[in-house]
Amino acid sequence: MKIVVLVKPVPDTYGDRVLNLETGLADRAASETVLDEITERALEAVIRHAEESAKSGAGDVEVIAMTMAPAESQSTLRKALAMGAASAVHVADERLAGADLVRTAEVLAAALRRAGADLIVAGNGSTDGSGGVMPSMLAELLELPAATRLETLEITADAVRGTRETDGGTMTVTAALPAVVSVTERMPDPRFPALKGIMGAKKKPLEVLTLDDLGAELEALGVELDETASARSIMVAATQRPAREAGEIITDDGTAGERIAAFLADRRLA
Ligand SMILES: Cc1cc2nc3c(=O)[nH]c(=O)nc-3n(C[C@H](O)[C@H](O)[C@H](O)COP(=O)(O)OP(=O)(O)OC[C@H]3O[C@@H](n4cnc5c(N)ncnc54)[C@H](O)[C@@H]3O)c2cc1C
Repeated sequence: MKIVVLVKPVPDTYGDRVLNLETGLADRAASETVLDEITERALEAVIRHAEESAKSGAGDVEVIAMTMAPAESQSTLRKALAMGAASAVHVADERLAGADLVRTAEVLAAALRRAGADLIVAGNGSTDGSGGVMPSMLAELLELPAATRLETLEITADAVRGTRETDGGTMTVTAALPAVVSVTERMPDPRFPALKGIMGAKKKPLEVLTLDDLGAELEALGVELDETASARSIMVAATQRPAREAGEIITDDGTAGERIAAFLADRRLA
């Protein structure tokens, strides 16, 4: 079985994240690039499944980490390989800078068609773009079932199953393979790659693809790109979030309750 995990390199949420106000894109040089946490957890869950399958003799599971991201973020794919992915696919083409959700879905769908996966595992939302719709868009383009926002993940030879929290309770969903699933941060903590894994990652296959390499698959999906492969959405304004102001510390001298109530009422929060 071949499982592709869609991993996304993002600016480290522990550092300062900067928006380029001219382009509206994240300034990736301003902070360290790391694997988005949910996709790292998704990868961990799938690697564990592959390890358990190998141990129990249930069959070979090949884990592929895939991303569409700037060329400079390749170290994150090496980390995915060091964690245990067998190979990686990096779609890196400068023409894709600023690609919106639709363009990203088209290009990833083309790369997924090329890879030919039994199961595609994504996060339910990224910490930078936060679109939260990529897995459903991919399922639509690839004409596959989508089981989204799963908090547990159970993979068998011909189906995938998991639970999803809703306002009213817990839902169990299942989809026949091939399928697309998205998982939440409830997936297991990612492992720290061991030295052996880090050394081994250097020898594992990491394929770099440009839009030209995906020409046939894009055509099969009915996607026509002009010379610029432009992003489709047009950014009309971008504003940096204002710096946080220091809060007021209220020491209780008997009037703290009233002052907090007044504070909330002033801001129409009460
Ligand atoms: C040169 C270049 C520059 C880019 N610059 C930016 C940028 O500045 N800001 C930005 O947010 N994005 C950038 N991207 C990536 C792309 O534009 C976004 O990934 C895309 O718009 C998806 O948005 P999202 O993260 O909101 O999707 P969501 O729907 O929130 O993502 C959900 C899940 O889909 C999967 N996924 C989403 N995007 C990718 C991806 N690219 N590769 C692999 N898996 C993915 C992950 O599993 C993720 O957890 C860049 C890409 C390239 C090639």
